[in-house]
Amino acid sequence: MKRLHDMINQEGIVLSDQVLKVDAFLNHQVDPTLMWEIAYEFMDRFQDAGITRILTIEAGGIAPAMMTALRLGVPMVYARKTKSVTLNEGTISAEVFSFTKQQTSTITVAEKYLQPGERVLIIDDFLANGEAAFGLARLVEQAGAEVAGFGIVIEKSFQPGRQKLIEAGFRVESLARVESLKDGRATFVDSVTV
Ligand code: 5GP
Repeated sequence: MKRLHDMINQEGIVLSDQVLKVDAFLNHQVDPTLMWEIAYEFMDRFQDAGITRILTIEAGGIAPAMMTALRLGVPMVYARKTKSVTLNEGTISAEVFSFTKQQTSTITVAEKYLQPGERVLIIDDFLANGEAAFGLARLVEQAGAEVAGFGIVIEKSFQPGRQKLIEAGFRVESLARVESLKDGRATFVDSVTV
C-alpha cells in the first residue's frame, strides 16, 4: 500500500534494526484518513471471507480495527491487556509475551463479545514474532469461533511472525511488509504495490 509505505518513510522513526516508531500516524497521534484507507484495503481483501467480527488488542490495533469494522459493517472488540473491574462476567484469557515491553501479560475478552461460530478477522498494528497474533487466535479458538485471517498494518518480514502464522494454516494480509530497518531506514519486500 503505497501511501502507507510513504508515511513510514516520511514520518516513521527507525529506533533500531528491530523497532520502528510510528507515533506520528498510528501508535499515538492517529491519522484518520490513513486509517480509513487502510480499512478500505482490508475490506477489499476480506470482503468475501464471511467476516462476522473484528478482534484486535489495545491500544495500537484499535484505530485500524475500528475503521475496518465500519467498512465491513461488523462489530469490533479489543482484547484488554490489564484486568479491569468492569470486566467481571465470563471472560476468556490467553498469555502473550510483549515484544516492545519484553514481558508476559494476560489478554482478556468478555465471552459475550466473541461467540461460538463467528468468523473473526484479527487486526493488529504490527506483526513481529507473532506472539500477539497467536494469543488473539487462542482467544478465538477458546470461544469456539474461527479465525478467518489476519490483517496486519505493518509486518516486519525479517522477524518470524508471518512464517509461523502461515505454517499454522492462517491467512495473513499485510499492508506494508518491512524487509529491513538497517541503516536507519525502512525498506519493503514489495516496494511496487498499489
Ligand atoms: P509480536 O507479538 O508479533 O512479537 O509483536 C507485535 C506487537 O508488538 C504489536 O501488537 C505491537 O504493539 C508491538 N510491536 C512489535 N514490533 C513493533 C515495532 O517495531 N514498533 C512498534 N511500535 N510496536 C511493535
